[in-house]
Amino acid sequence: MRKYRLMSPGPTPVPEKVLLKMADTIIHHRTPQFQAVLKDVNAKLKKVFQTENPVLIFSSSGTGAMEASVVNLLSKGDKAIVINGGKFGERFGEIGRAYGAEVIDCDVTWGNAADPAVVEKLLKDSPGVKAVYSTLCETSTGVVNDIKAIAKVVSATDAVLVVDAVSGLTADEFKPDEWGVDVVVSGSQKGLMLPPGLGFLSISGKAQKLVEGSDLPKYYFDLKAALKAHAKDDTPWTPGVSLINGLDTVLDILLAEGIDEVVQRHARLANVTREAVKAMGLELFSERPSNAVTAVKVPEGVDGAALVKKMRDEQGVTIAGGQAALKGKIFRIAHLGYMDEYDTISAIAGVEIVLNQLGFDVEFGKGVGKAEELLG
Ligand SMILES: *Cc1c(COP(=O)(O)O)cnc(C)c1O
Repeated sequence: MRKYRLMSPGPTPVPEKVLLKMADTIIHHRTPQFQAVLKDVNAKLKKVFQTENPVLIFSSSGTGAMEASVVNLLSKGDKAIVINGGKFGERFGEIGRAYGAEVIDCDVTWGNAADPAVVEKLLKDSPGVKAVYSTLCETSTGVVNDIKAIAKVVSATDAVLVVDAVSGLTADEFKPDEWGVDVVVSGSQKGLMLPPGLGFLSISGKAQKLVEGSDLPKYYFDLKAALKAHAKDDTPWTPGVSLINGLDTVLDILLAEGIDEVVQRHARLANVTREAVKAMGLELFSERPSNAVTAVKVPEGVDGAALVKKMRDEQGVTIAGGQAALKGKIFRIAHLGYMDEYDTISAIAGVEIVLNQLGFDVEFGKGVGKAEELLG
């Protein structure tokens, strides 16, 4: 027998209390009983997203909410700047192109954070840009972008700023209203400690004006329909009732702790993980590391894919490898959502064992000792 330890940057483990809540009887969604749940969830979502804007819920993964932020804000041929520093920034560009927007790539070397001055220059050089798309945490590289500085640049123009906070929400500091972020997209299976299946999108008044004029094709993700229903604490289509029940409990857990405190908790585990891998003689990959996930360079001579596989199949710890060009070159340990100190220590211990098996000499306890020192 082996315990399943899920330490990937999505999906993440679900608290037992939430699992039980999702086992509740399915009630009909067009009833005062379910509307009461939704009303409560909608109010609590705003607190967790730290926004006064409506937060819409979709029955989709996070990418559905990303797509909604493209097809509802832009029109055919509209210019949009996409900060592309990894797999998820790239995805915004792919969605934009698929629907006929004119995507202007703000290319960022994978592992680096976007430079707000470059975004400012791109905005100056291409008048008429409707929207700027960025990730908060670029999960594929473990980088957190300086959204506060980017928002300062974008909010001084007519463009709206859309931030993919699928993995960054609740892990990295993020104050959308205070900073001037117009649209935030997220998903259920990361910091929100739920199974995959819900997408979220909050939208400002400035961005709602773009929705009015947008002519890109859409149906399921039509924000006009979603906003109209949201105003009555309803949804246009059948909502994911069980996931929303679970969300109700998750939001209570997060708000009881306090969002700033939740972010601090992630910061602490992220710091412990970074220091522990450095103590093992490894190098971090990210220039500006996120609190959601730590990306580590696979040392010379070690098979990165084998490391991830042995961690999963022999140690029972599911971490993530590198994606696309980073395949085999990095591995990623999450500290996101329902993961605690002892999960972090388990992952560090597993990495020490597996690295030794793969021929990289790490003195046992180097990383674990550093973690204990910082946590003790
Ligand atoms: C996980 C993730 C997504 C969404 O991916 P889905 O598989 O559609 O849920 C989007 N952006 C980032 C930064 C992510 O980490």
